[in-house]
Amino acid sequence: MAITDKIYVKNHRQLASQLDTSFPKSAFSGATLDVLFTGDGIAKLDDASRDRVLDFAEDFLDCDCQGHPHCGCPERKFIAYLLELRAQGLGPDAIVDVMGDDYMLYAYPGDVLSFLDNSVRTLEAAERLADVDGQNEAGEEIRRKRRELSG
Ligand SMILES: [Zn+2]
Repeated sequence: MAITDKIYVKNHRQLASQLDTSFPKSAFSGATLDVLFTGDGIAKLDDASRDRVLDFAEDFLDCDCQGHPHCGCPERKFIAYLLELRAQGLGPDAIVDVMGDDYMLYAYPGDVLSFLDNSVRTLEAAERLADVDGQNEAGEEIRRKRRELSG
């Protein structure tokens, strides 16, 4: 499972009752993207929740793809957001805190940790390939990224 399958909406029950409909707890599940983040119901949410929901929609659901919001862009952008927080030096617990403050989302720190570990390993593999291939610049760039993530 991708890390985006393990990102959940905080106050899920409360929001569902404000919207007067149900949607899955998982933030990136298709129905949640439709009902909570792009639906007409946003107006029914309390102010604080609405701000977070709109921020999320603006930051991750702002593409013009035909399949929007089921085009994969939201997931890709959210992964970039997680990696950016890591590059700023945040650990899994702090990352979970920040996504809660920013977007009213939560994840288990253990899941975030394995995601970060996997990302570093993926970069290591890419780095080796670039080196073998004689692509020194690409290898350097990947090495730099990996160091950022390794903290
Ligand atoms: Zn898209």
